[in-house]
Amino acid sequence: MPQVKAAGLKGGVMYTDGQFDDARLAINLAQTAIENGATVINYLEVTQLLKDNNKVCGVICKDVLSLQTYTLHAKVVINATGVFVDDIMNMDNNDGQNIVKPSQGVHIVLDKKYFTGKHALMIPKTSDGRVLFAVPWHNYVVVGTTDTPVNYIEIEPKPIKEEVAFILQNVNTYLQSGISEADVKTVFVGLRPLVKQKGKTILLCWPEIIPLL
Ligand SMILES: Cc1cc2nc3c(=O)[nH]c(=O)nc-3n(C[C@H](O)[C@H](O)[C@H](O)COP(=O)(O)OP(=O)(O)OC[C@H]3O[C@@H](n4cnc5c(N)ncnc54)[C@H](O)[C@@H]3O)c2cc1C
Repeated sequence: MPQVKAAGLKGGVMYTDGQFDDARLAINLAQTAIENGATVINYLEVTQLLKDNNKVCGVICKDVLSLQTYTLHAKVVINATGVFVDDIMNMDNNDGQNIVKPSQGVHIVLDKKYFTGKHALMIPKTSDGRVLFAVPWHNYVVVGTTDTPVNYIEIEPKPIKEEVAFILQNVNTYLQSGISEADVKTVFVGLRPLVKQKGKTILLCWPEIIPLL
């Protein structure tokens, strides 16, 4: 890691982790599902639940490209809509009791010249007490993330200026390169589907359930 600042550096710890291409994984999952008999359809939005005797027995959905609607009957309907899970739950029981408290996470993408090593860097304690990663990614380096509570769930969330500034400030503390906002090639933004619980917020997708607050 030639760009890591040497001044004040006492040492480091090396550990092994895995990395995969998330977009590729999604395509491979879809391919495997098809090979095992599934019908996989995208751009099809569930707009309403069908019920029989007060039990969900299918969905009404809309092809968002052609705007054609379809009625699909099913023995089982699984709500796996991530951060949008409350929209579907409210179709079942319109009591407005949302369970998701979204938290925005941002990664910035930089040219590889700012971090030329082949290993990823984990900064164990950022200025807000979390971890920050700089990970080689194809011909670039991805640096993040942030943890910003937000009130709105959008299909295309947008980065907040302070989030990019936070990442730059923390990464510049440890790298020599003096990276500025002008060096940011692009930004990935996502919303974590954190689940509200009395007095704390948890993320259910982690290997273990980790209390965040
Ligand atoms: C910055 C960041 C860092 C993260 N880091 C980690 C980590 O280190 N470890 C970890 O385990 N998790 C992490 N997460 C969380 C993890 O990415 C998510 O929890 C996970 O992707 C959720 O997967 P999912 O399949 O439940 O939902 P999603 O991947 O969000 O999929 C939901 C799907 O439902 C679709 N959908 C929504 N509404 C409808 C509708 N009405 N009809 C039809 N389809 C609909 C959406 O289009 C989408 O395709 C992170 C998240 C972020 C944002």
